[in-house]
Order: sequence, then structure tokens, then C-alpha cells
Amino acid sequence: MSIKTQVKPRQALQSIKPYTPGKPIWEVQRELGLTKVVKLASNENPLGASPKGIQAVQQFMAEIHRYPDADAKDVNAAIAAKLNLQSGQIIVTNGGDELISLISEAFLEPEDEIIVPSPSFTEYEFGARLMNAGVIAVPLNQDYGYNIELMLSAVTERTKILYICTPNNPTGTYLPKRDMEKLLAALPPRVLVVIDAAYSHFATADDYTDGLDYVREGYPVVVLQTFSKIYGLAGLRIGYGAAPEAIIGHILKVKEPFNVNALAQAAAAAAITDDLHVQASQQLNSDGREQLYAAFAALGLPFIKSMSNFVLVELGPESKRYYELLLTKGVVVRHGGLWGLPQHVRITVGTKEDNEFLITALQASMLEISKK
Ligand SMILES: *Cc1c(COP(=O)(O)O)cnc(C)c1O
Repeated sequence: MSIKTQVKPRQALQSIKPYTPGKPIWEVQRELGLTKVVKLASNENPLGASPKGIQAVQQFMAEIHRYPDADAKDVNAAIAAKLNLQSGQIIVTNGGDELISLISEAFLEPEDEIIVPSPSFTEYEFGARLMNAGVIAVPLNQDYGYNIELMLSAVTERTKILYICTPNNPTGTYLPKRDMEKLLAALPPRVLVVIDAAYSHFATADDYTDGLDYVREGYPVVVLQTFSKIYGLAGLRIGYGAAPEAIIGHILKVKEPFNVNALAQAAAAAAITDDLHVQASQQLNSDGREQLYAAFAALGLPFIKSMSNFVLVELGPESKRYYELLLTKGVVVRHGGLWGLPQHVRITVGTKEDNEFLITALQASMLEISKK
């Protein structure tokens, strides 16, 4: 006998689509029987975790029977010192993803709206849907740059949060400082601006801004940061938000007491001081971007120049087949369908060898597809 469940979920769940993560290496190995798999799908650090972070985790292991510090004081202090902020201007979270959920819980009523760029990171929409709030998606320009006028024209009485992702995931484009200032000057002060700067360390343009100056100046801005990308701690789940103290105070009210685990706290406090690892990761990424650009150009594939650690490449109508062929050759990338870009794939910049492996697999795939 089977019992039929009659427990109804909240209505809001009807508008929530499950998140599809990049395929993990072990899954591809198991499904396809491959020994060598290169994952260029989730913008992880190809150099691995900060060695200082790894050492801190190892040293902390004997303490894991204790609850973590609910206020993550040591990480908070390390971040404050690094960024020249007050500790009251920082909240440490279980990844940048948790910060987006917390901001949504703290600020969104069902009658509120958020404005998001499109295509961009899908978690902004998830947070709003969870709270039953509305989502207004504003398209990027044809060249995937931001259109500030269009974003401003989407502001209504209902607008509560406006998200800027810079460098933007999945396009790698960014919002120049001049445009950020125009935007902040034009927005009503009741609108919270979330500047997602998860990839800030990879941006090399002179007119790039990570938004922290606007926090220091007291604008209604939350800057999102993560230890998952340049610091290489994605598996530990830790990120943070920087904002004026009053805004942080509201977000703290909805935080679970022990949201950030103890190993993540130990690792992050050490990793943020690991300048050598950061610099090596930046150099590897800048070189890798150039390596990929040159290869894509030689193969005649259009791509968008990126300020981040990934490149969006146009493979045309067969893009999904390319994605699948690359998988069979042991290369995991991300298909653009997720962002309404069915002709594109997003490729994380890897080590020189990873990139070569990808380029060889891509060339072979192009041959196979052209023969059909
Ligand atoms: C990776 C990422 C984050 C944060 O990721 P966490 O692993 O949850 O810290 C936030 N925003 C964007 C755009 C990202 O790509």
C-alpha cells in the first residue's frame, strides 16, 4: 500500500526551478568511464586552495567537536583589516549564495520587486521567488555590456533591490566606474544596490570598481564577496557581505547562529592574507585568458573578452552537441541554455595544460561535427 502525500508546499515554490550545478569530476568519470577529466564548469581555482588556508584547516581539525564562533570574529577582523572597513560593516556567510538568500529574507515583501541584469547569476531570482517577490529582468546590450539607462527605466515604486554583477557571470563583462556612479546617483535612496563582486580579483580594467568605496561612503550598497573563487575554498562554503552598518544589522537578524562552519572560518581568516596565492592565481588567469582568446580566434569562434576567470564562447546551433562531445572527451564546460544562451558555452580558465586539453578536445569536436 502506498500512502499519497497531501502536504502542500508554499505556492511560491511553483515558480522556483532547481539549480543545475556544473557536473562534478567523479560523476563524469563514473558515467563515462574516463580516467582524465578536466572541469572547467564552475569557475573554481585551477591552482587549488590557498596553501595558508589548507594549513589552517589542518591545524584546526582537533577542535571540530566545538560549535563554530557564531559571529565569525576572526574572519570578520581579518576582512576588516584587509579592506579598511569597520567590523560592523561586514557579515560572514555560508558562501555568497547564503548572503543573497539572507538579503532576500531581510528586505523583500511579496509586493516588492527586484531588478536583475539578464543574462546573469540565477541566485538573485531564486531569492526573490522564495519570498514571493517580483523579478524584473533587464537585458544587457548586444555586446553584453550594461545598459544603465534601461536599468534605471525599470525602477518603479515597488523596486526594493537592484543587482549588479561585475564582472558579470556568465558574460565576463563589467560595469565601468563612471556608470556605477551614474547609477548610484540616479537611484532613489530606498533602493538597495547589491554589487556582486565575486570575480573582482580577476578584473584588470583600469575603470573597474569592486564597489567597496561606495560602502565606505555610506551608499545603500551591499558588496558580495566569496572565498570560493580566487581563494579556492569553494568546498568549504564561505563568503561575506560589506555594507553600511545599519544594513548589516538588518541582515544579521535573519542569519542562523552557526551559519559558517569552523573549518571554513579558520581557512578564510588565513587565506585572506595569502597574497602570494592570490597573485599567482591572477597571473595564471590573465595568461590563460590570452591562451584561450588566441585559440578561439584561430578556430574562428566568436567570444566575449572577459574580466573574469571564464570566457563565454559562441558555438552556434550545435552548441549543446559540443557540450556533450566535450564531456565524452573528458572536458566539462557549462552550456549556456541555463542563461537563455543556447548557442554559447561558458568555459572556466584553467591551468595552461587544462586549457590545452580543452582546445584539443574542441578542435576534435569541430571536426566530428563538420563531418556529419
Ligand atoms: C560563485 C558566485 C557567487 C558566490 O558563490 P559561493 O560559492 O556561494 O560563495 C556569487 N555570485 C556569483 C556571480 C558567483 O559566480
